[in-house]
Amino acid sequence: MRKTLQAGLLVIVLSSIVLAATTPDFKLENLGNGVWAAIGTDEGKAGANAGFVVGDDGVLVIDTFEDPGAAKELLDEIRKITPLPIRFVVNTHYHLDHVNGNDVFAAAGASILAQRNVRDWMRTENLKWWGNTIPPAMKARVESLKLPDVVYRDGVDIYLGPRKIEVRSHPGHTGGDSIVYIRDAGVLFCGDLFWNKHIPNLTDATTGTWVKTLDTMLGYGAAKFVPGHGELGTAQEVEAFQSYLEDLRGDIGQAQRSGKTGDALVAAVLPELQSKYGSWGFFKEFAKPDIQQTAEELSGTKRVPAAQQ
Ligand SMILES: [Zn+2]
Repeated sequence: MRKTLQAGLLVIVLSSIVLAATTPDFKLENLGNGVWAAIGTDEGKAGANAGFVVGDDGVLVIDTFEDPGAAKELLDEIRKITPLPIRFVVNTHYHLDHVNGNDVFAAAGASILAQRNVRDWMRTENLKWWGNTIPPAMKARVESLKLPDVVYRDGVDIYLGPRKIEVRSHPGHTGGDSIVYIRDAGVLFCGDLFWNKHIPNLTDATTGTWVKTLDTMLGYGAAKFVPGHGELGTAQEVEAFQSYLEDLRGDIGQAQRSGKTGDALVAAVLPELQSKYGSWGFFKEFAKPDIQQTAEELSGTKRVPAAQQ
């Protein structure tokens, strides 16, 4: 099962490298009030979305991509918009595609902030995507990732001059996810707690708590939701993503109650998911492992990284 997931991820990573020369890595979207989303292309080497907020006295960056080259491009784009110092980076979670450019922004003077489990997991849990076949250079890279300088348990408020940025930790995708709310712009950066029209990676997920977290996120009253993957979204698109998790859990529960396990369970659930969500990105890579991992979660056998309580 893990092999399938790793193969899927590797295909994404390798195709990124092949296509990097011809495909833009991300596109910048101006969300107003100095808030920008950097939407990664599925083919480019950004590997995920990021963003930044320009305040009166500095810049806060949200996530740093899967590739330091893409992070440098983002830094260059910020420099075209403002000469203000890059003061903070918030990592929404520990996954490599959101933290591998941390060193680029640290070198530019930023302090890196994250939920405390992110610091515990960044250099260890990110090795698992390759199984036993991680190239030595990648292993060295993961084991020297720039860790957060400042950690919190539940959240932190960050001030850019008079402007308040609200960072809050909510469980779901991993045991250390944060969202970043820019209230005066009506923008919620969701990290990988929201995948817009993309099937999520559930390797570290607890979908039961995730569904509730999505209700909390919808309660913030934001108008614009920046997902970890996919295009800028609306509340309706967050609800559609929540429905994916609920359908997954419901269909698997039904199959389990009729005694199905393993391949028979996957075969029972996959067509239903395909009919509703087959057009979403990453369906081929993640739908089957999502079923297997959520079946483990529902039967109480799923292993997720141990979190500080
Ligand atoms: Zn992730």
